[in-house]
Amino acid sequence: MKEVLELRINYDYAHLLFKADEGKNLGTSVKVVEISKEDPRYSQVPIIAEEIKKKYDRGFFFGWQIKRRYSKKELDTATLLHLKIKAVFEPTGEECGTLYDETAACEICGANRKQASPLILKKGTIPKKDIARTIGGEVVVSEKFVNAARQRNLKGLQLSPINVEKYYQLTAYTEVELSHRTVAGVDPWDFSEGSNGIEFTVSGGYPVKFEKEVYKCPKGDTIGLNLLSEPYVLNSQSIGEYDFFASKQKIGVKRGLLRPEPIYFCSPAFRKMIEEEKLSGFEFEITNIE
Ligand SMILES: [Zn+2]
Repeated sequence: MKEVLELRINYDYAHLLFKADEGKNLGTSVKVVEISKEDPRYSQVPIIAEEIKKKYDRGFFFGWQIKRRYSKKELDTATLLHLKIKAVFEPTGEECGTLYDETAACEICGANRKQASPLILKKGTIPKKDIARTIGGEVVVSEKFVNAARQRNLKGLQLSPINVEKYYQLTAYTEVELSHRTVAGVDPWDFSEGSNGIEFTVSGGYPVKFEKEVYKCPKGDTIGLNLLSEPYVLNSQSIGEYDFFASKQKIGVKRGLLRPEPIYFCSPAFRKMIEEEKLSGFEFEITNIE
């Protein structure tokens, strides 16, 4: 596995760390570079970012993405795969009338609210993929996916019809525990456990309020805003018995319609089905079992 971090650097300051011919320039505002953890400049990024923030009140990088490239053999021999759902859409089920019992949710981080009605979505908004999720974390799959999963008798998938024809909501019957080796944070260098709420007044005298956010719940339900490492899960008997799982611990934050979400995992048989049936919207990484 090769891991690199893709950074979207503020072009105005890119020269402080990168050569002019390095990476790819997007117009004159962003330089996209890939950097590995072993590169000595990796640890310089947050230092330079802080200096720029202090001196000019600007950002050094606008975005980041961890990219992992696996060999075919690595993926083919993995016992458990991290299933990533790339297509994200709105409006959420909550906005379309799906009922949630928020009293079931953690009062600190907002994780684990209970869905109290079938999922309702807006017709015509689901991406043309075989799997997609709303920004609120609701996962839907196509009829083609459902037929293939039933034919192959995959286990551990809970499939419920929704108000949109030919789509189903997918949830997991079984949870697996993430181990402490799973790393999550705000970004690769920021491991803050929450943000302070702030309140201020804008011109015209209107009060603006940012709610305090919790990224790492003291109760352990939410472990961070973004997943930074490959997932590490504790071994359990169910890993050999089922084909689809959700993590017990969540990633993300309660912010407006967003909620902390589980990570999803699947078996090699599940991945084989996706490849053979050419189902779209799925990406796989490897999960470590401890
Ligand atoms: Zn919590």
